[in-house]
Amino acid sequence: MYIEAKDTIAAIATGMGNSGIGIVRISGEKAIEIADKVFKGKKSIKDMPSYTAAYGNVTGADGTFIDEVIVLVMRGPHTYTTEDTVEFDCHGGSFVLRKVLGRIIEAGARLAEPGEFTKRAYLGGRIDMTEAEAVMDVINAENDLALNTSMNQLRGSLRTEIEKLREEILYNTAFIESAIDDPEHYSLDDFGEKLGSTVDNLIISVDNMMKTCENGRLIKEGIRTAIVGRPNVGKSSVLNMLLGEERAIVTDIEGTTRDTLEETVSLDGIVLRLIDTAGIRDTDNVVEKIGVDRAKDNIKRADLVLFVADGADTLRDEDLRIIGELKGKKVIALVNKQDLPGGIDEKRLSDELNTAGCDSIIHISAKKGLGQDLLMERIKSLFFSGDVSYNNQLIITNERHKEMLSVTKESLLRVKQSIEDGMPEDFYTIDLLSAYEALGMIIGETLRDDLADKIFKEFCMGK
Ligand code: GDP
Repeated sequence: MYIEAKDTIAAIATGMGNSGIGIVRISGEKAIEIADKVFKGKKSIKDMPSYTAAYGNVTGADGTFIDEVIVLVMRGPHTYTTEDTVEFDCHGGSFVLRKVLGRIIEAGARLAEPGEFTKRAYLGGRIDMTEAEAVMDVINAENDLALNTSMNQLRGSLRTEIEKLREEILYNTAFIESAIDDPEHYSLDDFGEKLGSTVDNLIISVDNMMKTCENGRLIKEGIRTAIVGRPNVGKSSVLNMLLGEERAIVTDIEGTTRDTLEETVSLDGIVLRLIDTAGIRDTDNVVEKIGVDRAKDNIKRADLVLFVADGADTLRDEDLRIIGELKGKKVIALVNKQDLPGGIDEKRLSDELNTAGCDSIIHISAKKGLGQDLLMERIKSLFFSGDVSYNNQLIITNERHKEMLSVTKESLLRVKQSIEDGMPEDFYTIDLLSAYEALGMIIGETLRDDLADKIFKEFCMGK
């Protein structure tokens, strides 16, 4: 594999918050030489064996003290990047870390581009493209399920599946080529039919992988959930129930205005991205803010709509108007305030909901926290056929992979067409090879340099 001429690179490898320790990492031919220049300890870094640590100080060129550190020396090729690598465990805090990094750059390293460490691991042949991308997903994972799928990919499950398909395609291509060259030993009689069924199976496999994309997105990014209903039915109580004990891990994602506040909550391994929670919380101006228009907008943006109705009150026009907007969406209707005596016309409600294509009704009391388990079960069955234990299942979470799978499928469909049209066999090979190549793009086998650059740029600095 082509390996570009390399500088020695350095970056802060840990997050920029104020944590206990922070790591500055150097990688490249001169990593040890540069680290030695900035470090004062009992012995020289140059004399340290691989995978050993030492205590000392990082100092300026004039000997001034910068930070007290532990240095870890790892010699290539058995390192993450496959190059010589030195890590300084410094005191956390971005000011100190930046000073240490600045000193290392002054001593001859170059600031790493985002993802450059991982790019080197890839160029050094230590990991393939799916694994490199998984590294990034692991870093960015916001919940256990996303982490599991990325770790699974990191362990090579996607590559294994893709390689299986590629092997099958290559075998058939090679068979056609051989038969054309050497018709005495290889016969293409009835081959079209056989290839046809092989291609059918390949398409099924590709389809199955593509089907996981949507779940992949929902797992990685969360299910965009809108809570809608007329004022006073209990929307903000439902929101509070869902956020409940999980409040600690709730993140506020401020949009450009407070109007687009989102909150994310992870329940039972499922991530709900609750949209427009500002609108729900803003009770001062209820009538104005939570009008049907706003509900309409939120419904449009949502993967899941939680329609809340007041079980202790009568069904009103405004309820019906909102129900009218639910068509074509995944909806769960929550009939709230079950702790109070009933008042709602259940039959009418269920008829109206049915007309809107929603047959999922749950009775809850947001105030008493009743019905949440049932709700989570219902969400699972609505989105993941009841099963969210994806630990060992292959799930496509990456847009680029999805794109390449659809290119693969198109090529395979063209092979089928050629068979049906009775085209000569060498026609099949053209499209078989383009399917082979598209699959190869997923694992980086036929990757162009510019594409590699594009992918690694998405990595965060220091990885
Ligand atoms: P929103 O306007 O739709 O957000 O409704 P709120 O969540 O602000 O609730 C309106 C009123 O209904 C408040 O006084 C809540 O305490 C009350 N409420 C909400 N859920 C329940 C419930 O399950 N039972 C009872 N008894 N009251 C509830």
